[in-house]
Amino acid sequence: MNLPTQLFLDGTHRNSASAHRTTLINPATEEPLAEVTAADVTDVNAAVESAQRAWESGWRDLAPGKRTEILFNVSRALRENLERIAQLDLLSIGKPISDARDEAGLGARVFEYYAGAVGKFFGQTIPVARGGFDFTLRQSMGVVATIVPWNFPFPIACWKVAPALAAGNCVVLKPASLSPLTALALGEIAHAAGLPPGVLQVLPGSGATVGDALVTHPLIRKVSFTGSTEIGRRIMELASRDIKRVSLELGGKSPNIIFSDADWQRAAETSPMSVFANTGQDCCARSRVFIERSIYEPFVEKFVAATKQLIVGDPSKPETQLGPMVSAGQRASAEEFLADARQRGSKFASGGGRPHAKGFYLEPTVLLNVGKEDRCWREEIFGPVVAIMPFDDEAQMLREVNASPYGLSGSIWTNNLQRALRVSRAVQSGVLSVNSHSSVHVEAPFGGFKSSGLGRDLGMNAMEGYTELKNVYVAE
Ligand code: NAP
Repeated sequence: MNLPTQLFLDGTHRNSASAHRTTLINPATEEPLAEVTAADVTDVNAAVESAQRAWESGWRDLAPGKRTEILFNVSRALRENLERIAQLDLLSIGKPISDARDEAGLGARVFEYYAGAVGKFFGQTIPVARGGFDFTLRQSMGVVATIVPWNFPFPIACWKVAPALAAGNCVVLKPASLSPLTALALGEIAHAAGLPPGVLQVLPGSGATVGDALVTHPLIRKVSFTGSTEIGRRIMELASRDIKRVSLELGGKSPNIIFSDADWQRAAETSPMSVFANTGQDCCARSRVFIERSIYEPFVEKFVAATKQLIVGDPSKPETQLGPMVSAGQRASAEEFLADARQRGSKFASGGGRPHAKGFYLEPTVLLNVGKEDRCWREEIFGPVVAIMPFDDEAQMLREVNASPYGLSGSIWTNNLQRALRVSRAVQSGVLSVNSHSSVHVEAPFGGFKSSGLGRDLGMNAMEGYTELKNVYVAE
């Protein structure tokens, strides 16, 4: 397959001003996959200035109908290229092919949604004192920098780029160094579908070089970031110097709360994939399970049995549920958590080892007897590891849930309506599901409380984040 390995600047693939390259490793085979051009500060300056010109010279003023048409064409072209996009994520990050196809389809759907949103997002007229007429305008910002992680590289890039473009901005997209291929393909496919040159630039390169240069560039008006809380904090600090707008989608340590009145058998069968999907490299992973004590033992038995059935292996096979971890470093980091759990005397009810000799695989691991101060209970592992703990009292359990510095996602399982509503209100997180593990809906806001982030992706709320609100008063 033809892999995109150059920067995508001004509607065409190009080499960097520097000679830097990043070697991609296929995590399923540990073999080198491709050498990708890495941008430097000169490329960042060129990309941002060109995007600014594209914004001033037409994109911001394009008739809504025309912008809608272009974004619909991008969506259609993404669907036509769905298999290519899926293969690129399969090869570069070991994404199981069935998930990779779903995520490619999700990216196309996101463009479709925001294509339709262009003409439906507008200001208001506001009654004010007599003798005056007051209205608000939603105006595009200029050039937006979007910085994305490697775990869901294609859909997350789409759910930042599409609303930013729909709102009339131009975008510079920086993919993670481990996963630049689908972002480069997005640039190429979008331009072939009619997006004017300069409106979307794609710059692979290191976070320290490209990321910092984007965040501090004076023409960048907003930084939309998804990644770790540590880097998010750094971006917020840098952006504060000239009051750049930021939205941050960061880490999580999400709870899965199961009450004895729930259909807990269904919860036990479905919960393993709520934490182990994407090999646990998911910001919404339900990695802390709270079980009401009366059902603790049968729940754990079912949960462990379901975990042992998961198919871990070659991501190119349609039946595979869990592929490798993204890199040797990511697996080593998860294994450090497991070593800590062993040392503290946690019980490994399942997993803990490497299932295959080749590839960065790690077994889905179920930990019991974990202490509330243990790292595995408190910190985001970003690997296939879950800790399960019984609870006796709802209020005490909620205090422990909310003691986390994170607040991204979570599930509540109960058939008691009052309890579902009461607990949904009480859990401090941006996204919750009752009797389900779903977190992401294109039409609904997605984002975190507390250290899990700031601002919202998806839904019409994302459009707010890519516009400035102006109030105009006209004396009559
Ligand atoms: P990361 O290390 O924070 O990297 C994310 C992105 O930031 C990458 O493109 C990275 O580039 C870039 N970056 C690194 N240093 C930077 C800097 N100084 N300035 C600007 N950008 C910089 O996170 P990750 O390891 O890719 O992803 C895992 C984390 O993302 C987890 O904590 C996870 O929970 C979080 N996440 C959150 C969500 C959500 O929606 N809340 C979704 C997915 C993931 P390089 O790759 O070149 O270093």
